[in-house]
Amino acid sequence: MTSYKNYINRLLNISLIKKIFENLRRNFVILYYHGVISDEEFKNLKGPNKHLFVSKTNFIDQMNFLKENGIEVISLDELYKQNFKPKKFSIIITFDDGYKDNFKIVYPILKNYEFPFIIYLIPKILSEMPWVWWLELWSQLENKNEIFFKNKKIDIHNEKLKINFFLQLKKKMKLLKIEEQKNELIKIFNIQKISDMSEFFMDINEVKKIVKDKLVSIGSHSNDHLCLKNFSKNEVYNQIDISKKYLEKILNIKIKHFSYPYGQNQDISFYEHDFLKELEYNTSVTTLDYSYKPLNRFYLTRCPIGPNVKKKDFERKLLGIDMILRKIFFR
Ligand SMILES: [Zn+2]
Repeated sequence: MTSYKNYINRLLNISLIKKIFENLRRNFVILYYHGVISDEEFKNLKGPNKHLFVSKTNFIDQMNFLKENGIEVISLDELYKQNFKPKKFSIIITFDDGYKDNFKIVYPILKNYEFPFIIYLIPKILSEMPWVWWLELWSQLENKNEIFFKNKKIDIHNEKLKINFFLQLKKKMKLLKIEEQKNELIKIFNIQKISDMSEFFMDINEVKKIVKDKLVSIGSHSNDHLCLKNFSKNEVYNQIDISKKYLEKILNIKIKHFSYPYGQNQDISFYEHDFLKELEYNTSVTTLDYSYKPLNRFYLTRCPIGPNVKKKDFERKLLGIDMILRKIFFR
């Protein structure tokens, strides 16, 4: 994977090849982030949650690249208004889950560039003690060498084994609602109580502060971060409906955009657009980075910007080359 990327990065030095890809891509790319953390914190980050974060230096480099190359950064509302056909190639910046750094680090940086962006929030995290299974699970695994699970002793003495076990439990977690996830982890790890994750997520006052800025849009990421595919139609409707109503009421704004939790093919039923339309959403984003189907405003693809995206990789991603190659080779 890495070597082919290096090869393509080198090819991009040829301006004709760059031109060809510029003509093949759609006229917009939606970038997809979770959190941006200090370089120091980033260096110490391990495990499966690392893919959620980008270092501050990398993020600033990426924003600089957009600015230096005169690439337009527009809001999702603007993209919708222009019927997904912006005249100039444009970037849309999105963040999922509502991590604290969106307020502390991301907002000041993007304010400085005057780049608009959207954060997809989870009402359950704003209205109760913030908690998500993936941070709890990793913090439990991190310092253990073995664990008893289903009456078996499981060796988790190194990072690879820990991640395997994490991924095994992830499948289970995606079938459960938050309260059930909590009970399950309490049982498996024999813990007294779950962690308070207030330090990891924005609180409602922080959201209220940034939402006053025209650069900031808020969308729904479902009420409980449920893997929609695993729940009944009724539950899916409620997740899309209740989250919208909560955010609209507490923030006094209109919620027009949705982001599917987990967001891959196996997480979406592809009937959700009926509900989204009925509830007056304008767009919905997935975490798919390519699509076989024509553009659909309720299943928009996004380009993930993970922890290891260097300047050259960023440029390649904006050209949509990863998406085009995937479409050719992995379909
Ligand atoms: Zn999410």
